[in-house]
Amino acid sequence: MKILKFGGTSVGSAERMQALAGLISGGAPKIVVLSAMSGTTDALVEIAEALAAGETEKADGLTGALEQKYAEVCAKLYGTRGALGKGSALVASHFRHLRSFTAEKFTGKEERAVLAQGELLSTAMFQCYLEEKNIDSVLLPALDFMRIGGNEEPDMARIEADAAKELSRYPGKTLFITQGYICRNASGEIDNLKRGGSDYTATILGAAIRAEEIQIWTDIDGMHNNDPRFVAKTRPIAELSFDEAAELAYFGAKILHPTCILPAQLRNIPVRLLNTLQPEASGTIITGRSTGDSIKAVAAKDGITAIKIKSGRMLLAYGFLRAVFEIFERNKTPIDMITTSEVAVSLTIDSTTRLDAIVAELKGFCSVEVDDGQSIICVVGSFTAEKEGYALKIFEALRNIPIRMISYGGSENNVSVLVDTKNKREALIALNEGLF
Ligand code: ASP
Ligand code: MG
Repeated sequence: MKILKFGGTSVGSAERMQALAGLISGGAPKIVVLSAMSGTTDALVEIAEALAAGETEKADGLTGALEQKYAEVCAKLYGTRGALGKGSALVASHFRHLRSFTAEKFTGKEERAVLAQGELLSTAMFQCYLEEKNIDSVLLPALDFMRIGGNEEPDMARIEADAAKELSRYPGKTLFITQGYICRNASGEIDNLKRGGSDYTATILGAAIRAEEIQIWTDIDGMHNNDPRFVAKTRPIAELSFDEAAELAYFGAKILHPTCILPAQLRNIPVRLLNTLQPEASGTIITGRSTGDSIKAVAAKDGITAIKIKSGRMLLAYGFLRAVFEIFERNKTPIDMITTSEVAVSLTIDSTTRLDAIVAELKGFCSVEVDDGQSIICVVGSFTAEKEGYALKIFEALRNIPIRMISYGGSENNVSVLVDTKNKREALIALNEGLF
C-alpha cells in the first residue's frame, strides 16, 4: 500500500479535483490523504474567531460566502444531475452543521470541530466525484483511526490497531480516500494536527500501516536547493536523507511540515515529494540512505529575534545556562539557535508573544540586548562526507555579509548563520554561487 497526500491547491478547484481523479485511479493499492480546498481552513479560522468573539452576524456572513464558493465548485465538478444532487446535499449538510455552532457556547472544543469541516468537505465531494466517474473507492473517516494522546503526540499504538481494523473491512479494495489534518484527542473530541498537518497525517498513517512509500504531492517539483522566491536557477534535490529533510523542513522550506519526517524515519519508509502539475517529474526522494555527497541545500527563516545575554557571573559558573533556559521554558518559548562565549550567550526565538516577560526576567540577573528583524540561514547536507573545507566554502561565499551568529557542529547536517533580514537575499544568492 502507498500513501499519497495532496495539499489544498491540488483539490483547490473543480478542475484540479477532476485532474486528481485521473492521477490516482488505477495502479497499485493506495490511500489518498486530502487537505481542505485551499483557503478553506483560513476561512474556517475566521469563522471560529468571529464566533469566539460573539460576532454571530460576522460568522454568518463568512459562512454564507464560503458556502457560495462550494456551490460554485459543485456546479462545475459534477457532470450528471444525480452526482450534483448528491454532492450538493453532502456540502449542505456540512454547512448546516457549521451554522449549528453559536457564540453562546463556543469553546476550544467547538473551534476544533469547525476547523475539521474543510477536510470533511473536500473528501466527501471528491469521493462523490469518483463515484460519478465509476472509480471504485472507499472513504475512510480519519476520525475513526487518527488519534493524539494527552501529550498531543500521535497515539501510534491505537492508530495502528484502528487503521488496520478499518482497512480489514474492505478486502480487495485498492483505493481509499481519507482526511488529512483531523483526528481525535485523548478525550475522544475532534482535534487536529495543527496547521499544515495533513503531511503529518500521511506519514503517521504510512508508518502505522507500514506503507511501502509515502508521497507528498504539491505544486513544486520537490525540495529545491535554495529559495526560488529569492534566487534564480534553483534546482530540485533528487535525494535527501531523513536527517537532512528534517533540518530543511524546519528551516522554512515550506513544502513539508516540520514534524512529519519523524514517523517515516522511525519505520524507514521512503517519502517522495512530487508535483501535481508535472506528475512525471521525479521530484525528491527522502530515505534512510546516506546520500554521501556534501552540501545539499540552503534555506532561510525570517522573523527571528536575537537575544544577547551578558553577565560577569557566567564566568566559570555552572547553573547559569540552566537559569537562562528555565526562563524560556516557563514562558513556553522554544529557542532555535544558540552560541556562547565565556561571558555572554546569544540565542534566537521565532515567537515574541512572551518576549517582554522573558526580557524582564533575564534582566533580574544579567544585561540583555534584543535585535529583531533577523533571519536564520541554514546550509544543509551531510558534512561527515566532506570533513574538510565545507566551512571555508560557506564563509567564503558569505565574506561580504555581516553575520550576527554562527552555529556549527550542532549536527552533522546543518550549519546556520544569523543575518539581518535586509541582507538575506544577498546571502542566499552568494551561497548559491559559492556552493552549487
Ligand atoms: N487544511 C489544513 C491547513 O490549511 C491542513 C493542511 O492543509 O495541511 O492548515
Ligand atoms: Mg502544506
